[in-house]
Amino acid sequence: MKLTRKEFLRTSSLLAGGFFIPASINFGKIFNPPAGSFKTLRGDCGIYLEKGGTIGWYAADDAVVVVDSQFPDSAKNMLAELRKKSARRIDLLFNTHHHGDHTSGNIYLKDFADRIIAHENCKALQEKNYGNDPSKPQAYPNFTFKKEWTQEIGKEVVSAKYFGPAHTGGDSVIHFQRTNVAHVGDLVFNRTYPFIDSNGGGSIENWPNVLERISKFYSKDTLFIFGHGASDDLTTGSMTDILAMQNYLTALIEFVSAGIKTGKSKEVIAASGEVPGFGGLKERWEGARKMNLEKTYDELVKKQN
Ligand SMILES: [Zn+2]
Repeated sequence: MKLTRKEFLRTSSLLAGGFFIPASINFGKIFNPPAGSFKTLRGDCGIYLEKGGTIGWYAADDAVVVVDSQFPDSAKNMLAELRKKSARRIDLLFNTHHHGDHTSGNIYLKDFADRIIAHENCKALQEKNYGNDPSKPQAYPNFTFKKEWTQEIGKEVVSAKYFGPAHTGGDSVIHFQRTNVAHVGDLVFNRTYPFIDSNGGGSIENWPNVLERISKFYSKDTLFIFGHGASDDLTTGSMTDILAMQNYLTALIEFVSAGIKTGKSKEVIAASGEVPGFGGLKERWEGARKMNLEKTYDELVKKQN
């Protein structure tokens, strides 16, 4: 029986409750289920899923790179798994953008990482948003870049590239060039409604342009890691998924724009339901679709004034 991670955890808790104990059980395994899912994707690259944004990793004898850090406890669990691949320190820790579910684990990983790298806007937004909250101690990038960062490390070449404002004002794509795996952070919410951060420098209108540039810059063989997906399996994918996200955002903008032109109010537009052709998207939290319509309305109207 092959269980998904969630089913495995559910089964484990049932077992722990004493409802069902088969004779041939491996107790060590059942009562200590892995906290998250550590999975190899291609070559020395993989992902870690537990909570928050997908962590990307590269682990070899001569280089260890981590992309995004979730939260302190899940970052610790990720590092324990990473250690099984390579005993080496983390050479580079990248943040794709400043949101707490991608950067809160920096505080744990900083003692094991030589460098924390992000786009300069990502660092500034992290400082602005979380810098005054003593209950959430932060570790900030100690190296930033404006357009692109490239470094040869071990047998890999890793680059980080900024394509313009989209999900936030400081998103970048981290590319393991030789393995051809690219982490796009929250530039793609795969088959699910995206979070739109207007206060964090994001731009719905520019977001499809950024995805267009990404689709031209990387190749059809690039394996993409997404910050979030409608399911665990959808946290990775191909160029098809980049284009699907671009198509949704373009349709969202056109739909809201047409509503504004015919004099519809924000409330009417927000209550209009699915964007035509995109009924299959999942709401990861209640009200996500409405929020997409409202934020798009706000941005388009603000531009007119
Ligand atoms: Zn985000």
